[in-house]
Amino acid sequence: MEPRDSGCIFCKIVAGDIPCAKVFESETCLAFLDIAPVNEGHVLVLPKGHYATLMDIPGDLGGDLVQTLSQVGRAVMEVTGADGLNLMQNNFEAAGQLVDHAHFHLIPRFSDDGLTLWAQAAYDDQDKMNRLAAEIAGLLK
Ligand code: 5GP
Ligand code: ZN
Repeated sequence: MEPRDSGCIFCKIVAGDIPCAKVFESETCLAFLDIAPVNEGHVLVLPKGHYATLMDIPGDLGGDLVQTLSQVGRAVMEVTGADGLNLMQNNFEAAGQLVDHAHFHLIPRFSDDGLTLWAQAAYDDQDKMNRLAAEIAGLLK
């Protein structure tokens, strides 16, 4: 039995208690239009089970999720005539997560849509970059 959270808006959508503009459903995943799209055709893909963040999603759902993202992404691009597609995923409030049921944004992009999604800057300290890589790698051994 998949985990559910009775206070979660996406669990209510999965259960059919709140309507959504559904585009795809499988045994494990659901995809529907975001109610407030970055660009029209912006889709949310989620595991049906309630997992709060990416880090809580069981690894064995990974295959279904990637396959769903790929298939839905292709359909979104074709229908919207998009030139590109962003896959975005927010974890925790500091990263912009508003709904605590892990989900993936598929955002159709157009060459002239004028969006800048994030700013980047090169490391100013190569040692720091190497230290960070070593610390992260150390937790993954
Ligand atoms: P987050 O910021 O958590 O990554 O994204 C949550 C997304 O869910 C937002 O883009 C928001 O527009 C969308 N959203 C919130 N409530 C609803 C809803 O009831 N229905 C739909 N279709 N989308 C929702
Ligand atoms: Zn939920």
